[in-house]
Amino acid sequence: MDRRSSPGSADGRELPLLLPWNRFFWEAGADDRLLIRRCRDCRSYVHPPVPRCPSCGGEPVPEAVSGRGRVAAVTVNEHSWGALPAPYVVAIVELEEDPSVRLTTNLVSCDLEQAQIGLLVEVTFTHAGDVWLPLFRPAATGKAQ
Ligand code: ZN
Repeated sequence: MDRRSSPGSADGRELPLLLPWNRFFWEAGADDRLLIRRCRDCRSYVHPPVPRCPSCGGEPVPEAVSGRGRVAAVTVNEHSWGALPAPYVVAIVELEEDPSVRLTTNLVSCDLEQAQIGLLVEVTFTHAGDVWLPLFRPAATGKAQ
């Protein structure tokens, strides 16, 4: 089956399977919020979303974070893969609240020369299928550190 025509994809992106413990993450962008699960007991952030805290077994609950972060790794894809037009930027962003929380994402509204490790970024969302995908753009004060 052509992946682009399957119900699990939109705009050439594979979309996540929504489960009871990850649905909040993919739907919160509708309210322009980035939610990350945080353990009620040990206060660790738990991402990717899983039912139980890997540190203590406690219950993680969704909590809003700032949406600000820093690029920890980045690459420019020069060839299209799926339907995303090349070139496009793939990045790992570590969140301001806890750099161990890392999201694999795309940088958007970003010059290719600007796509560097250390770039300060902020979340923005794109709606695809039933989900709001968290992407990142250079922060208003976006200078590399
Ligand atoms: Zn915990």
